Amino acid sequence: MTSSSIALLGVKGGPAIRPGSSMPTSTLVRMGGRTILVDAGLGTARGVCDQGVGLGEIDTILITHLHGDHILELGPLLYTAWTAGLKRKIVIYGPEGLTTYWAGFTASMVYDIDLRIHDEGHRDLAEFVEFRTIGEGVVIEDAGLVVRAMRNLHPPVTDSFSLRFEAGGKSVVLSGDTTFMPEMSAFARGCDVLVHEVYLDSAIDALCARIGNADKEKKKAHFVRSHCRTEDAGRIAREAGVGMLVFNHFVPGDDPTLSDDDWRAGARNEWDGDIRIGRDGMVIEL
Ligand SMILES: [Zn+2]
Ligand SMILES: [Zn+2]
Repeated sequence: MTSSSIALLGVKGGPAIRPGSSMPTSTLVRMGGRTILVDAGLGTARGVCDQGVGLGEIDTILITHLHGDHILELGPLLYTAWTAGLKRKIVIYGPEGLTTYWAGFTASMVYDIDLRIHDEGHRDLAEFVEFRTIGEGVVIEDAGLVVRAMRNLHPPVTDSFSLRFEAGGKSVVLSGDTTFMPEMSAFARGCDVLVHEVYLDSAIDALCARIGNADKEKKKAHFVRSHCRTEDAGRIAREAGVGMLVFNHFVPGDDPTLSDDDWRAGARNEWDGDIRIGRDGMVIEL
């Protein structure tokens, strides 16, 4: 039986990076003999290679929603995989609008892409990508691997999804970007690993002050209505009866004054199970 694992390539919520911060969101899921990339924030290609995985070994890409911290590097990643010798088509599942992003990316690179086709003899990049629109329900069902999607609560984004992977008797749920939603407990029921996004109430005011070029109140209101408190992530883990709760998509993801205990404390009030603090490059074997 093939081994299964999840690698957190980037665990920071939001597209900004600063000295000492982790990288924006992407996750590599290896289950059912497949290598699946979920989201492609800045730093994804580096993160994949750091796992010892060639870019051309990615079988499938799933994009949970169109915020920049989840798609900024999708184009550069696919382009780089192509120049690194991609030999087969990668299927990319994502919300409506992802093809607009792709068209814009390839348009921005048309000079270079045309050169590589006509001067260097590459087959057209377009032959190696296929985009499919993601919706609720079964996304992939193939050779013992089942991937399901549930629309989550990430206003004002409406096409934003949580994902559940099942293969070889193992199951993993990635919350994607979402505020607390009771339905998550049923979606994550009994899974071995729940990777859930979190924000820390007590650190939001300082974060909004640091950003500087956005309206502080609007920014804070976004975090509160669109992301999940650590307490609520702990509550979901308890209600769902998961084997392990892993935090990712930290907001803030660049505050060196916050300790692992700061992140654990709220969830610990709700659940006494195995809580891991995600880090860039962390691998969880299933
Ligand atoms: Zn995000
Ligand atoms: Zn988002």
